[in-house]
Amino acid sequence: MNLIENLLTLHRVDSQVRALRTRVTSAKVYFDAQERQLALLDKQKFELETQIKQLKAVLHGLELDQTTAQERVERLRAELNTSTNDRQYKAVLNEMKVLENQKDDIVKRAVEEMNRVEETQRRLEVHAATIVERTKVRELAKAKLDECMKDVGERLAELESERTRAADLVPDRERKVFDKVAEETEGEAMAEVMIVDLRHREFACGACNIEVPFETYAKLSSSGNSLIQCKACTRILFLQESSKAGAMSEKEKAEKPKRAKATAAVNTSGGLEQDSPEAIARDKAKFEKTRKL
Ligand SMILES: [Zn+2]
Repeated sequence: MNLIENLLTLHRVDSQVRALRTRVTSAKVYFDAQERQLALLDKQKFELETQIKQLKAVLHGLELDQTTAQERVERLRAELNTSTNDRQYKAVLNEMKVLENQKDDIVKRAVEEMNRVEETQRRLEVHAATIVERTKVRELAKAKLDECMKDVGERLAELESERTRAADLVPDRERKVFDKVAEETEGEAMAEVMIVDLRHREFACGACNIEVPFETYAKLSSSGNSLIQCKACTRILFLQESSKAGAMSEKEKAEKPKRAKATAAVNTSGGLEQDSPEAIARDKAKFEKTRKL
């Protein structure tokens, strides 16, 4: 097998490996997202619980204040009954009034705090329900990931060793180019050269549609051992067997002299026939020159 055939085999296996890896990766990404969401919900749950604890502590403090004030009021009431003069009586009465006002404030605040505790508890309940739901989703995502790993695992191992075997058949330099392009194009490293118009020598990259020079076509036609990249998208160009110059149909062969005539007008570099071996050799040399630039 020549270089291009080996690269196409590598490309085929490489695409399969990538497709399988993508399946596992998307299942893993989905599962990780569920994990992150649950972790966030747990953190929020902890915050709500802490808030409730703090609110309850405040409430408890208010209850103590209220009890203290109540006890003081009762002591004062006893004093009131035993007061001996008017001044003392008024003083005790005043203090009792202040304490009653304080008690009212405490009760008001305690009611507010109690409302807050209740509201936070309601939020916590809703939150807990959400956690139950999200946990179910996480479990499903986990099952899906496990199933995917099981399905893919064995096949992926097989394909990966097949890929290594295919890669071993490609020389170092070319393999590095392939790996780089495959990485950049997400596994679309090879592009077929499309014949737009054979008569006018118009060719295009099958992936990005940019024009491919005739020299490239000629070179790929004559040898399966040239690695030529598309100048625009960097993909490695190849020709289908049926597109090669040597495999032209009878009809195309019949059109050949006409095409040579048609292009002769634009041929300014000596009177060589465009399809003569000399012309192809010259095109090749020209292309080599531009490729090195
Ligand atoms: Zn291209």
